[in-house]
Amino acid sequence: MFDKILIANRGEIALRIQRACRELGVKTVVVHSEADTEAKYVKLADESVCIGPAASRDSYLNIPAIISAAEVTDSEAIHPGYGFLSENADFAERVEKSGFVFIGPRPETIRIMGDKVSAKDAMRASGVPVVPGSDGALPDDPKEIIRIARSVGYPVIIKASGGGGGRGMRVVNTEAALINAVTMTRAEAGAAFGNPSVYLEKFLENPRHIEIQVLADEFRNAVYLGERDCSMQRRHQKVIEEAPAPGIARRLIDRIGVRCTEACRKMGYRGAGTFEFLFEDGEFYFIEMNTRVQVEHPVTEQITGIDIVQEQIRVAAGERLRFKQRDIRLAGHAIECRINAEDPYKFTPSPGRITSWHPPGGPGVRVDSHAYTNYFVPPNYDSMIGKVITFGDTREQAIMRMRIALSEMVVEGIQTNLPLHRDLLADSSFVAGGTSIHYLENKLAQRRG
Ligand code: ADP
Repeated sequence: MFDKILIANRGEIALRIQRACRELGVKTVVVHSEADTEAKYVKLADESVCIGPAASRDSYLNIPAIISAAEVTDSEAIHPGYGFLSENADFAERVEKSGFVFIGPRPETIRIMGDKVSAKDAMRASGVPVVPGSDGALPDDPKEIIRIARSVGYPVIIKASGGGGGRGMRVVNTEAALINAVTMTRAEAGAAFGNPSVYLEKFLENPRHIEIQVLADEFRNAVYLGERDCSMQRRHQKVIEEAPAPGIARRLIDRIGVRCTEACRKMGYRGAGTFEFLFEDGEFYFIEMNTRVQVEHPVTEQITGIDIVQEQIRVAAGERLRFKQRDIRLAGHAIECRINAEDPYKFTPSPGRITSWHPPGGPGVRVDSHAYTNYFVPPNYDSMIGKVITFGDTREQAIMRMRIALSEMVVEGIQTNLPLHRDLLADSSFVAGGTSIHYLENKLAQRRG
C-alpha cells in the first residue's frame, strides 16, 4: 500500500478520498487554490500545498504545479477525483513519467475513451451495443452525410467526438436542417474542445440513462457492481441518481454487465469506471465511458457494501481485486440528491457564506459534503456543495428516508436546490419510478408555462 497520496481535487470528493486514505492508513496531501485555503478538509489533511490562484486553469488544472507539489511532499500516487484533470490522458502520462502512480486507468485507455468515436469503436469491437449511427466521424461530403442520416432515420443527434459535460450536441429533426447543424456543431466543437470532428447518432426519444459501475485490476480481473439510474437530469446534468434502476429485470442488467467486464478485460482496463447507456424498449445503447470515480458512486457503495474509492487505491497499488463476480451481492435501495448552491428554479449560481448548515441524520442517511456553518462557497467552481444519500431495504423506504432527510436539512445564507428536491421526492412519476431523461426538463417547462 502507498505511504502517501496527493489529492488533486477539491470539495466533497477531496474529503471523500481523504476519508478512504485514512481508513487504509495512508497519509494525505491536499493541493488547493487560494480560494480554498480556509476549507476544513484542507486543514484535516496531513499536508496541504497551495498551487495557485482561484481560477481553475491556474490551480486545479495546473499540471506542473501539481507535479511539483507531489515532489516536494514525497507523495507516491495522485488521485484525480472527478472533473478537472481526472480524464486528461496527458496529465496521467505526466504523472507516470514523473515517477508517481496515477490512480486511474492507463493513459492510452483514457485517450481512447476520451474520444467518443474511438470509444464507440472499442465497444463495438467488444460486443457492447452502441447507439446506431455513423460508424466513425462524419465525412466532409454533404451528400454522404445526408445518405448516412437517411439510413439511420430522423431524428438524429450530431455530437462532438471530443465533447463532454453535456456540451457539443445538436438534435436534428429534418433533412433540411441537417447540413447547417453539422456545420455549426463542427465550429463549436473546434472552438470548445480543439477538435472539430463530429459524428451522428439516432436520437432516442424517450430513453432512460442507465450506467454500469465496474472495477478492474492489472491482472485482467473485472467485476460489475450493478447499475445506477441517472435519468433525472437537467441540461444533461444529473440531479438525482439511484440504485438499482427501478423496473429493469435483473437478467437484462446481468447480460449488459457481463459485456462491460469483457470489454474491460479486452482493453486491459484498470481501476474504477462507468459504462453509460441509454435504455429504451428493453435495449441498452452505449453512449460513453467515464474513466474515473463518479459523483454518484455512493449509491452503488450503499447497495454493495464496497468502498469504490478504497478499491481504486488498492488496484492502483498493484493489488488484485478481492472479490469475484459471484461475491457481489446487491441489497436494498439507495438514492442520492445532489445539493447545489443555486436558485432552485432559475438555476443561477448562489455562491457566498453559509450562515447556518444543519445536515440530516438518522438511520439510512449518508451526507457527503465539505460544507459547514461559516463555510464560504467560492464562485469559481461547480455549484455542488454536497450529496445526501439515503438507503433502505426497499425503494419505498429509501424515498421515505430521503423525504425526512430533506425536511430536516437547513442551509442558510445562500440559495440551494433543496426545494426542487423536495418537490421531486413528492412527484408521483418519480415515486412510480422509471422516468425518462426528458422528464425533469418537461416538468420544469410546465412549471414556467
Ligand atoms: P457528455 O459526455 O457531454 O455527458 P453523453 O454522450 O454522455 O455526453 O450524453 C449526455 C446526455 O445527452 C445523455 O445522458 C442523454 O441525456 C443525451 N443524449 C446523448 N446521446 C443521445 C442520443 N443518441 N439520443 C438521445 N439523447 C442523447
